[in-house]
Amino acid sequence: MAAESFDLVVIGAGPGGYVAAIRAAQLGLRTACVELEEKLGGTCLRIGCIPSKALLESSERFAEARDHLSHHGVKVGQVELDLPAMLKRKDKVVHALTSGVASLFKKHHITRVHGRGRLAGPGKVLVEGPDGARELRAKHVIVATGSVPASLRGVTLDGDRIGTSTEALAYPEVPGHLVVIGAGYIGLEMGSVWRRLGAKVTVLEYLDRILPGMDGELAGLAHKAFKKQGLEFRLGARVTGAKPEGGGCLVQVEGQEPIACDRVLVSVGRRPATDDLGLDTVGIAPDPRGRIPVDEAWRTTAEGVYAIGDVIAGPMLAHKAMEEGVACVERIVTGYGHVNYQAIPGIVYTHPEVASVGETEEELQEDGVPYKKGVYPYIANGRARALDDTDGMVKLLAHAETDRLLGAHIIGARAGDLIAELAVAIEFGASAEDVARACHAHPTLAETVKEAALAVLGRPLHI
Ligand code: NAD
Repeated sequence: MAAESFDLVVIGAGPGGYVAAIRAAQLGLRTACVELEEKLGGTCLRIGCIPSKALLESSERFAEARDHLSHHGVKVGQVELDLPAMLKRKDKVVHALTSGVASLFKKHHITRVHGRGRLAGPGKVLVEGPDGARELRAKHVIVATGSVPASLRGVTLDGDRIGTSTEALAYPEVPGHLVVIGAGYIGLEMGSVWRRLGAKVTVLEYLDRILPGMDGELAGLAHKAFKKQGLEFRLGARVTGAKPEGGGCLVQVEGQEPIACDRVLVSVGRRPATDDLGLDTVGIAPDPRGRIPVDEAWRTTAEGVYAIGDVIAGPMLAHKAMEEGVACVERIVTGYGHVNYQAIPGIVYTHPEVASVGETEEELQEDGVPYKKGVYPYIANGRARALDDTDGMVKLLAHAETDRLLGAHIIGARAGDLIAELAVAIEFGASAEDVARACHAHPTLAETVKEAALAVLGRPLHI
């Protein structure tokens, strides 16, 4: 087999890998990207962020038509669900975006290699794919293989009734009763989708709160909002087993009666996809959590091998992986490249949305950082009133002495869009006063951000 030579081979075409490949091509590297799946885009585009957002949007519209349009004086007849059409629309969105990545590869002359890539010694990647085996050689290799759902002891996934987000994105009918294990990003997003479509949803969470890692005050408000929507929560619930039984499933929770349900969604986190990658052939040893150790330039212990995204430490978020992909390639080519890990937003796309960037109040307290806090409720915002969407608040945290913005937390409609301004503010080292003095158009939800910044200074205008 003749080896093909490149400047860079990227293993994995998820958000980290495909973006790294594009940036490398822009910088003039002869680049190949190896991807196991037929569709490009990784978990995010195929079975993660994008299809879940498509279903969140559709299910929200359904619930709005059913429950809320009458508040606006809009009368609709009987609202009916056409689930196959909803799922088909989701598949179309996925198809458009994954094909879009393929077009970007063509545009940038990136060689797409279909198959499973494995390191096979320094500078060498072997690919086994539908068209046979290929040997790729490159001075630089970036590992961007992402993550897979974490499993739970006692719970055997059957790929049907007991599954992960992959199955929950395509249930052929609305489950009568869905049990969700884990009240994190996936559990709450997919739990919301099926609740809106009519399922009874019970969320079992091991901890005594939902959304661990998010600001505690916001997580508490989110918990209340979801309960109001009819999601049932059992906190402090340790799941010890789940199995198919009869036509449904039985879930065992320590110290409680077993729960009978129709489907189980296991969403207890994800683990790096670092198995069977040939890491040993270049002397890379993953840490005890399966992650690849890297330095500040995303270099592994092996010369010429880099790692980005979910396979390394940090939040498992598509946009974090994209930033790393760009910065890693820029480091390789130019010697410069940086990711500001303080300015990476996290968003839960439920309704209300929950969005966060920078430090939480708990983190500032733990670190003994003196801070000022400004909060502003959506209900005092004119646009939120006009939208009839007044549940929510913005909370900004700034250093008590310097006024530098340290953290921003929003729960409410379009929180995921509003947080962008605050990520930019933190990136630029802005103070709360900088945000407060910037003109925000009226009437917009963004005015809640300005008012929260004014509240940090002790002088909100509209409350
Ligand atoms: P997560 O880490 O967000 O939440 C997992 C939850 O499961 C936690 O609350 C945890 O305490 C709980 N848990 C763990 N073991 C448990 C047990 N035995 N019984 C009951 N509860 C248990 O993980 P996820 O929701 O599976 O999402 C996986 C990853 O995907 C996350 O890292 C997230 O960043 C990413 N993701 C992001 C988005 C987004 O950006 N909107 C959406 C989906 C997924």
